[in-house]
Amino acid sequence: MDVKKMNQPNQGIKCIVNTCYYYMNGDQCSAEKIEVQPRNAANTQETDCATFIPQGS
Ligand code: SF4
Repeated sequence: MDVKKMNQPNQGIKCIVNTCYYYMNGDQCSAEKIEVQPRNAANTQETDCATFIPQGS
C-alpha cells in the first residue's frame, strides 16, 4: 500500500509508535490513511498498523 505522507496530522488517529516514518510529534499520524490487521483478531494486542514503515527508510 503506497500511502501519502501529509503535512498535517490525520485528526482521526492517535499513535505512539515514534519509530514510524509517518509519526508526528504529539502522538499523531501523518499518513493519509492506514490499514489495521489482522482479520479475526481477538483483542487489542493482536491488532497492529500495517501501514508502519521504519523511519529513515
Ligand atoms: S502509519 Fe501506523 S504506525 Fe505509523 S504513525 Fe501512522 S498509525 Fe502509527
